[in-house]
Amino acid sequence: MKLKFWGVRGSIPTPGKSTVKYGGNTPSLELRLDNDELIILDAGTGIRNLGDHLIAKGESLNTSILITHPHWDHIQGFPFFKPAFISGNEITVIGTDREEIDLQHIIADQMKRIYFPVQLNELKAKLQFRSIGEEEFTVHGATVRTIYVNHPGFTVGYRIEHKGKSLVYISDNEPFDHESASSPSNFEPSVIKRFAAVKGDANTRIAEFAKGADVFIHDATYTPEEYVEKVGWGHSHYLFTLSLAHRAGVKHCVLFHHEPNRTDEQIDRILEKCRKELRTRNYSFECTAAYEGLEISW
Ligand SMILES: [Zn+2]
Repeated sequence: MKLKFWGVRGSIPTPGKSTVKYGGNTPSLELRLDNDELIILDAGTGIRNLGDHLIAKGESLNTSILITHPHWDHIQGFPFFKPAFISGNEITVIGTDREEIDLQHIIADQMKRIYFPVQLNELKAKLQFRSIGEEEFTVHGATVRTIYVNHPGFTVGYRIEHKGKSLVYISDNEPFDHESASSPSNFEPSVIKRFAAVKGDANTRIAEFAKGADVFIHDATYTPEEYVEKVGWGHSHYLFTLSLAHRAGVKHCVLFHHEPNRTDEQIDRILEKCRKELRTRNYSFECTAAYEGLEISW
């Protein structure tokens, strides 16, 4: 498998001098399977550069875009994904419906004339939409499993396996605990029910899902100090991410979805702290902070 990060920033694009190293585009990742098939993870603003890159390569495209959830930072780049404008390309968008609106309308509505000049049904590529739940299915020869995780409106985490290799991508997720689970009104009851059914620590459900992953990409939006003020916002602090990676026994943990105000120097410091934590706690996996252009092959 070969992975390239085209957007790693959470919430909103953050161009500027202080984000040059890690990048300001919101989540989008390019995953190449060993059979050279392309799977795209999320359609944040990073997907625009990925689309331009694919066009420059002259590749005719048959790809699937796995959407974690439809918050803006994960779908906003789609209308700027140029391969969708080209006849002959085939694109399948995979994600979850919401109670009041299905996946296709979620994507189409952000392109309504009031927001954007080109409508979804004017795109020239062959577009298909596949609504999923918590399940297992096949995409371009890879086995994909999903898990609902803890975020306002809920997010889907993906586990992709192909020829004995694995990637787990959990972009927006907050530590779950039984005490807070019963009260927050911004989490879907069906998601709370699944986690509440776990005996002991509810986050075990995610550790099991990510078990033994070669590469584990997880939300690390906050520092532990910041998180105290942000309970219920749907994101993790880096110590939680490290402990989850350890419990899951992953080989490589990638800190992802950087807080929009975070400067390059601050992310450098967070990564240093994380690597120190690994030594102190005898955690044995590799740890990287995601940046635009980062490539991982395994
Ligand atoms: Zn997000």
